Amino acid sequence: MADTFTRPPPKQPASWSLDRSCLEQVPCPLCRGDRFERLATTDRYNMGLITVGCLGCGLVMTNPQPTAEALDDFYAHHYRHFYSDFGPRDGIPTEEHIRSRRIDRRCAVTADLLVARDELLPGMVVLDIGAAEGSMLKAVGDRAPGTRRIAIEPNPVFGRFAMAHAGCEWHASLADLRASLPPPIDLVIINHVLEHLKHPVQVLESLKPLLAPNARVYIEVPDVLEYRKLKMLHIAHLYHFSSDSLAHLVTNAGFDVHLIEKYAPAKHPHSLRCVVSVATDVAATRDSPAVPNRRAGWSAVTACARHAWFAHVKRWLRNVAA
Ligand SMILES: [Zn+2]
Repeated sequence: MADTFTRPPPKQPASWSLDRSCLEQVPCPLCRGDRFERLATTDRYNMGLITVGCLGCGLVMTNPQPTAEALDDFYAHHYRHFYSDFGPRDGIPTEEHIRSRRIDRRCAVTADLLVARDELLPGMVVLDIGAAEGSMLKAVGDRAPGTRRIAIEPNPVFGRFAMAHAGCEWHASLADLRASLPPPIDLVIINHVLEHLKHPVQVLESLKPLLAPNARVYIEVPDVLEYRKLKMLHIAHLYHFSSDSLAHLVTNAGFDVHLIEKYAPAKHPHSLRCVVSVATDVAATRDSPAVPNRRAGWSAVTACARHAWFAHVKRWLRNVAA
């Protein structure tokens, strides 16, 4: 497969080209609408991404989007290098990186919330989708002894680190997990991952056969209403959720919402966190009235784009100084 994204040279600020032949217009994953309003035509890396608002339901999303093949290639080979400012030095996780980025603290806060809500108990089977270096599963194991912990992480360096760090099993994909015939899963954690997925509704729906009765799914995403800087718009995030659109998405996928709230994690964007379970009345979920289009977050995105020139000049100056 042709390289869609050009890996940046070492020690240089990330700069890669987006192959426009690998972009496709997609319908809104929530309402299937195909009419959008342009909110921004620039992004963190000045790659020319277009961020739109769905005129049907209000969801904020990147459109056009990279094809599924282009995204697979991106995450398998380029993501950790391109986002090196946010990851460990040389792309190899270390305990020092986990501490300095406060990843351990953020994961502890989430695990404590789940324990307090009786959604994380000893002996459970816990799956972390997009587990990175395994910090969340480490926090789970520290608080709930005897849990069977399973990581899904496409990057093998991070996956192998997670096995040692969290004492977990590791699979590169949901397909690999299914092929391993796992036990029924009691708790799924999807922490700052849903916004990366091209088909978030289908991924949530596909989890249902893997779940134990009464299983819970914890989801955390950036909160589009709290966007203040252009850096929030970038190639890895295909969707930008408000509490409205997040609730719409999980309901659309056939889940009941138990909790949805704003949250300010340490050294991370302002977020939304939510806990859901498989809907007990699927017909009612399917027939529920459409969520009103409040255009939530649209003005926050346009405000970020309005000052793009300043962000790009700063990035250019950093590149010159490097
Ligand atoms: Zn829509």
